[in-house]
This record gives sequence, structure tokens and C-alpha cells, in this order.
Amino acid sequence: MAFSLSIYPWVFKAQFAGNGSWTEVYDEKPHKTPAEEAALSPADQQLLLAKRNSFPELPLVNYTTQYGLGCFEGLKAFPQPDGILKLFRPDRNGARMKMSMEGLKMPGFPADQFVRAARGVISRNAALGFRPDYEPEWESDNFQNASSVYLRPFSYSEPAIGLGLSTTPWVVVIATPVSSYFKEGSSSAITTQSVRANRLGTGWIKCDANYVIPILAKKMAEAAGYMEAIFLDAVEQKYVEEGSSCNFFCVMKNGTLVTPELGDTILPGITRDSVIALAGDLGIKVEQRRLAIKEVIEKGAECFVTGTAAGVSYLESLTHKHKTALFNGGKIGEVTLELQKTLKGIQYGRLPDRHSWLQDV
Ligand SMILES: *Cc1c(COP(=O)(O)O)cnc(C)c1O
Repeated sequence: MAFSLSIYPWVFKAQFAGNGSWTEVYDEKPHKTPAEEAALSPADQQLLLAKRNSFPELPLVNYTTQYGLGCFEGLKAFPQPDGILKLFRPDRNGARMKMSMEGLKMPGFPADQFVRAARGVISRNAALGFRPDYEPEWESDNFQNASSVYLRPFSYSEPAIGLGLSTTPWVVVIATPVSSYFKEGSSSAITTQSVRANRLGTGWIKCDANYVIPILAKKMAEAAGYMEAIFLDAVEQKYVEEGSSCNFFCVMKNGTLVTPELGDTILPGITRDSVIALAGDLGIKVEQRRLAIKEVIEKGAECFVTGTAAGVSYLESLTHKHKTALFNGGKIGEVTLELQKTLKGIQYGRLPDRHSWLQDV
């Protein structure tokens, strides 16, 4: 399953109606029962999924499809041992979605409405049986292969062809099941000379346009035998910024956990924020500051990247200008493992949620 698109039947749509109000609808797309759908031929399954991924009422030619003027979110609902599903920090995704939309000078979708929509999509689909169930065997490998529901809220502009701003955007929320994001095996990374984000640019918001360069850089890294591309700052190419779609952390040999400080070229990841809090709980010293690539190569003991899709994913090595640092003999480090276990344990309801991050659906 990994990170493929298999849209659940219920989708949410809202459109800005002026005066700060949004017109909302939930649509039930064509479906059968999950068991009946699983029994369909692959071709029939694709046909059904294509129907669910079709929105004839949304215009094809607009600022989003022509110029990348759109933004999105990614958040998950986790099956709990007691049978219910819980969303992880949806309020933060809602706040960031609003910030991203306003960063693109369009009306921002209110965060509380976003959270209600997230709940609405999860609960409607779950009522039809479209949801993963908690499986105790997930605990045997710390939820590395556990499933969850991924929500993808995104903005979409009104019809347009010239250059301009979206004044009456839609916000669409779709759900799809996911399991582990990165393939097992290689988790090596290499720095890229491509520039993801510039000063005074859009690196601090989650917008479509930010993803073009990272996709190209990640594919180039993969072609060279690495899993991930690591971006450096645009000006000096000296400081680590992010992975292709995830934040970067390094545990130094002295035990301090360092992550690049937020600024207009770093995306304020919610997993990043959560990991910083959990590290504090575990008594680990955390620094948010400029982090030179030289320092990572020479003094790094463990490195990992974070994101909703990636979780906490360790990097076995990092290559920069023909120098490769191998971390912990290529195996996941102690601190990384502890943070990964703690975060997943909280998300899947196996560890106490001390920060009240989980919200009922
Ligand atoms: C979404 C994203 C992240 C991770 O953010 P989370 O809130 O943890 O999912 C990191 N970097 C970039 C560039 C992103 O777009």
C-alpha cells in the first residue's frame, strides 16, 4: 500500500463565498463495500478509483493547474487499540493551511472549519468501513508497518488563465489509506546543489510550487543510488535546511539534538515541533540554529528526517562533496529509535498522550 492514492468515497469541498464565509458540501463518490471493492479485478478497481478522483464541477484551467498557485496539507488519523480513530494535531495543520493560503494572498480557510472537515471526512468514510483497524502485531516493530488514514486537504482556484490571485478558492479534503512511507533498505542521503527555497520566497508555507525542485532533486538522488536529497541554504550552500519534503535533525556526538531554526526557507513541520517537544521530555538537549553541513559530516552521530508521511526516518549516511559520513554503522541510532518509538507509541495510543496531541474524530 505504502503511499499510493486510493481515495475513500467521502470527500469534502468548500468554496469561499465572500464575507469570510465558506459554502461546504460532503460528496459521497461511487463505491461498493471495502470487501466488494477488494474482490474487483485490478482494472475495475482503477475504474472505480478514477470515478472517485473525478471532480467535474472543479475547473481544469485555473491558477492552480496553470501556475502552481495552490497549497496543501497532510495529516493522519491513527487507529487506536480501543477501536476508534484519532487525528494527530489537526489544529496545527488547520492553522498552517490558513497561513499557506494567506501566504498566497487568497482567503484563508478557518482552522476550526478545517478540523471539522478533517473529522467529517474520516468519520463518514469509517462509517462505510473505509478505515484501517488496529492490529496488535504492529507493536512488534514499533508500528513501522502500521496503517493509518492520510488526509490531503488542498486549495484549488477558480477558473482563470491570466496572471492573478485566487479570490474564491475551493478547499478540498480527500482521504486515502497509507502504510509505511519509505521503502525498506537504503536510507542514504546526498546533498543537492538545487535550491528549494529562497529568502523572501515561499519556503515557509506548504505550497504546490515548492515541490517541483525537491521532486527533481530527489529523483536525481535516487538515480545516483541514494534515498533522499538534502537541501542546503540558497546563499552560501553551507547550512543544512531540509530534506525533499521533510525536516532535518542531527544528534551530535556530544548528545545534543540540532535542527535548523525556522525562517522563511524552512517549513514549520508539525512532526518537527512534536519531536522537539518529545526530545525535551526525554531530557535531550535540543538546539534550533543554523547547522553547517560540515558540522553534520564531522560531528554527527545520528541523522533523521521528519514529516507526517515519513514519521521519524533515520539516515544511514550523508554524502556531501564526495565525503560520506556513515552514522551508527548504518543502523538506526539510539536517540532516533527512542524518538520514533515514542512518537508512534503516542499516535497509535500505546503511550500516554501527555501533550494532548490526539483528537477524537
Ligand atoms: C510538509 C513538509 C514537511 C513536514 O511537515 P509535517 O507537518 O511534519 O508533516 C517538511 N518539509 C516540507 C518542505 C514540507 O512540505
